[in-house]
Amino acid sequence: MGSLKFDENVCATCPSADCLIKCQYMDFEEDEAHNEMMKIVKGLDSRVLHDCVTCYACEEYCRRGNHPFYLIGERREEKGIYTASRAITNQWINLTQMQGKPMVGTVKDKALSSCFIPDLGALGSGELFKEVFPAVTFGAEFMCPAVHTHFAKMSVVKERLPKVMENFKKLGVKEVICLHDECYGTYTSIAQAYGMEVPFKPVYYMDFLLTRLKELKDRIIPLNIKAAYQRPCSNRLIPHKHRLVQEIMDYIGVDMPGRKYQGENSLCCAEIIRSVAGYKLADDIQGRNIDDMLEAGAEYCVFNCPACQSSLSEKVSKKGLKPVHIIDLCKMAVGEKGREG
Ligand code: SF4
Ligand code: SF4
Repeated sequence: MGSLKFDENVCATCPSADCLIKCQYMDFEEDEAHNEMMKIVKGLDSRVLHDCVTCYACEEYCRRGNHPFYLIGERREEKGIYTASRAITNQWINLTQMQGKPMVGTVKDKALSSCFIPDLGALGSGELFKEVFPAVTFGAEFMCPAVHTHFAKMSVVKERLPKVMENFKKLGVKEVICLHDECYGTYTSIAQAYGMEVPFKPVYYMDFLLTRLKELKDRIIPLNIKAAYQRPCSNRLIPHKHRLVQEIMDYIGVDMPGRKYQGENSLCCAEIIRSVAGYKLADDIQGRNIDDMLEAGAEYCVFNCPACQSSLSEKVSKKGLKPVHIIDLCKMAVGEKGREG
């Protein structure tokens, strides 16, 4: 089982403690933020271990290559400071248990990973995914275990991740195209942070999508719509990939008007926060987020993660926004789907 590579000196000499200063769910003065982080580094108790709502964002806020969120999860588990009730935590562990029933299409050099999310199977289809659609993998055997970080069950992540990667290795694939940010974040951030070797090349689906759009450029009819983007928590593990959203939107003629909760300040969909911090905070986050989309003049709410989409679709629809996954938006632009998605 890998162990977290965390450099104490990098935190000790950190001039900013941005990880906690920028946290949207706890307030700190600069000295206090640094002191609290050093308490966590040294294995002492800290209010962060009790109040962090697991939004993942400090993984992006730390520009010095340390992994504050993974460390918070490690320290919570060591001390038994879990984020949710035992019933909820165990429900996630049980729901995602490997069953020995992997679903594998016609896989050769490449696999198209649908993680353990049925909706991704339908999204990864059509002209855009023509080349790789038959190579789909689905099921707990191919599910990245990052969700358990929300519940400070880092031991489950460390136990399952090598098995998931071994399952892909057994297929003999060289590349795994990840349709879920959580998977790409797991193979490129968590695996590295724990010193685990990844036996294939992870490919981010938005890179794949942009390449395909360029290949199909003659078919693209600009959509000429205004949209707000719902950035998922797992994109915080791969912040360098966030720019692809703007590039794809530009390519298909989607205007993303500026808004308060975008980029580093994005708010998560809040459904996991509902489990770990309660209804009041989750409802407040969702309300502020949707109001912000409306104030920006968006007509569509564009999703990246199907879990965010199922959490927020009905709520944004009730406010007059059209919910759509970014892949479906691309399918609309190449004429494979109607405007309403
Ligand atoms: S985790 Fe990163 S941002 Fe936070 S104190 Fe350490 S080095 Fe600084
Ligand atoms: S995961 Fe989110 S809530 Fe927790 S400390 Fe990091 S930024 Fe704050």
